[in-house]
Amino acid sequence: MEYAVVIISIGHRNIDHIFHYRIPDRLKGSVKKGMRVMVPFGRGNRLIEGYVTDITDSADIDVSLIKEISDICEEYSVISPKRIELAKWMKEKYYTTFSSCFQCIVPKRVNEKSFACIQLNTANENISEAIEKVLNKDTKQKRVLEVLLNGDEIPVSHIKTLLDVDDSPINALIKKNILVRKYVQEYRGNFNSALVEKTPPPVLTDEQKAAVEKLFDIIDSDNKKPVLIHGVTGSGKTEVYMRAIERVLSQGREAIVLVPEISLTQQTVERFVSRFGNKVAVTHSRLSDGERYDQWTRALRKEISVMIGPRSAVFTPFENLGIIIIDEEHEATYKSDQLSPKYDAREIAEELSSLYGCTVVLGSATPSVTSYYKAQTGKYELIELNNRVNNTLPVIHITDMRKELVRKNFSVFSTDLQNAMARNLEKGEQTILFLNRRGYSTFVSCRKCGYVMSCDNCNVNYTYHKGINRLSCHYCGKSINVPEICPQCGSKYIKYFGAGTEKIEQEVLKLFPKARVLRMDMDTTKRKNSHQTILEDFRKGKADILIGTQMIAKGLDFPNVTLVGIVAADLSLNIGDYRSAENTYQLVSQVAGRAGRADKEGTVYIQTYSPEHYSIRFAADNNYKGFYNEEITFRNNMDYPPFTNIFLVMMTGENEYEIRRTLALLSDIMKRYNKNNMFARLGPTPAVISRINNVYRWQIIVKCENEDKIRNYVLFCLDKLSKQVSLDNINVGLYLNPSYIF
Ligand code: ADP
Ligand code: ZN
Ligand code: ZN
Repeated sequence: MEYAVVIISIGHRNIDHIFHYRIPDRLKGSVKKGMRVMVPFGRGNRLIEGYVTDITDSADIDVSLIKEISDICEEYSVISPKRIELAKWMKEKYYTTFSSCFQCIVPKRVNEKSFACIQLNTANENISEAIEKVLNKDTKQKRVLEVLLNGDEIPVSHIKTLLDVDDSPINALIKKNILVRKYVQEYRGNFNSALVEKTPPPVLTDEQKAAVEKLFDIIDSDNKKPVLIHGVTGSGKTEVYMRAIERVLSQGREAIVLVPEISLTQQTVERFVSRFGNKVAVTHSRLSDGERYDQWTRALRKEISVMIGPRSAVFTPFENLGIIIIDEEHEATYKSDQLSPKYDAREIAEELSSLYGCTVVLGSATPSVTSYYKAQTGKYELIELNNRVNNTLPVIHITDMRKELVRKNFSVFSTDLQNAMARNLEKGEQTILFLNRRGYSTFVSCRKCGYVMSCDNCNVNYTYHKGINRLSCHYCGKSINVPEICPQCGSKYIKYFGAGTEKIEQEVLKLFPKARVLRMDMDTTKRKNSHQTILEDFRKGKADILIGTQMIAKGLDFPNVTLVGIVAADLSLNIGDYRSAENTYQLVSQVAGRAGRADKEGTVYIQTYSPEHYSIRFAADNNYKGFYNEEITFRNNMDYPPFTNIFLVMMTGENEYEIRRTLALLSDIMKRYNKNNMFARLGPTPAVISRINNVYRWQIIVKCENEDKIRNYVLFCLDKLSKQVSLDNINVGLYLNPSYIF
């Protein structure tokens, strides 16, 4: 008797193990390892999806209890043996269920869409005589047949519009065995590569050439250490990636390119399409389930060999995988902290590398400190590109905003930045103003008693939005009318403090009433495609000044932008996260890199109240290594990653007392099982934002050098806890080295 070993698609830990199902006679030979199947489950025998991970001829349970597979979902395997291995690895690494791993690896099943085509019936031996008969008479059938005589496969709908006929002549020809009807799958979500002109590759610079040669050596060798490409913005990393992809494709292998969603612009995609044509497919978060499924299917069928997409594209089912490129590798978006499994695309790529022997390339102008540390300690290969292709880096000025105050300049812009903006407007060149905070004023308070308006549902201050003239909470979305008198003391002196992008926009228009201004932040990009529209308009020169949050920081290449103003560079320094210096360095460098990307020289003004801070000084000098050296010393002294791992246990719920009590219990358990004080523990403490939408948030942080040990320890302690108290009303969030502190 043959049995299929099946993992059920229900993400519940209690049933996250294998089940045996009998393969019925009618499915003998067609059920294969890696197939998606429908099986009856539970007492009600509800039909649910499962994956066949193995086929055996014995089962060590009572055979009479074994049920039968009901049907197969697809005729082919949707998950290869190596990817079943990947799922097993993910389950351990990300303390999650098989089923949620499979959900990443295989997209949701969507019915295929197909359309009818007709073609000459080559199986008919007497076709010539039949054709001759039809061609002898001047009929609709003759006209249809003439179009098909060269043997092409043509959609029925095309024939009907082309010749203005209905189905009857077509059906008649099919009846005579001259034509056959076929159903061809229509792929949803294809990128229309016909519209992109093919461009010849440029001649590489010496630096690029050296980088490409080193990459080729690694691609061709068995040394599968990941490669970190550290190259300043505009140093031509993308061109280097494309040469590496060419190499891999010429070996009959495939390539995955990961980019942050925000850089997944038409511009980026077109560069790849213009080189690799219809071998390229693109995914992004705005695809429908059908589009995603079809693009994934094309990869499985080997119809494409390059996939570009965000984090989830790392799971593209290429079985001859040659290279995975992760551009802007420092971006937080490569880690899914809010969804299960909380996987990191960089770690998945490394695991795929050991399964498939593919090369992993991480690229960035501002590598994450952790990745650069790995390159320094020999875990990664390092390739550096120190010069821009066009050989000019922008001139960067740091403006000490404290001095502006002394000079009685209370504007959000320093005098220098104002003058530079005026000059740029005169020259007809474009300016980008960056402020990583949306809205108009960041807090609203009473000048008499100091009362600060804050959201009733959250421990968060309201932000004033002038456009809608309301106060709104950026965490729960609640918004209220602006109170005319102070709710606490009744005074009329309500004042607005701090500036957001909306205020910057207004200030610009006050200073330069004729300037054409675009603003890009979460408030102006709510509609579908508004993001693309704003960027396109700016590229086409429909505006002089683009104001935006970090949405505009990355990957954009505007040739006419010669001035960048970073309005408040130290905003990200005061967040209280151990990575705030790293984030500040990255953000300032990325934004500054938007200036002077073509043949025109760029100028950058960095406005700050902490001009002496090393993240700002080194970003202004374009000195990543200088920054890295200070930062790595700080991390070492403070025992922060990469020298340790941080495990955050967050409990959230509506009853604050219950959460605190439960975390205190967990803390006791952790103390009890902390042999040799291997684990440092911090808390319980309230989270940075201690209440969102009336849900309270408390946490414990555990630190330990060894990743496996810390994971096992935390899971062990939580298991003990769940045996002591009910966790039914508490949501427990587990975050290993979260990309930001919540
Ligand atoms: P990065 O990805 O490092 O920011 P890009 O690959 O976007 O840099 O290159 C910056 C610009 O230089 C792009 O417009 C690109 O087309 C151009 N470029 C890259 N390599 C070359 C080259 N060898 N010769 C001429 N132009 C190049
Ligand atoms: Zn008051
Ligand atoms: Zn709120």
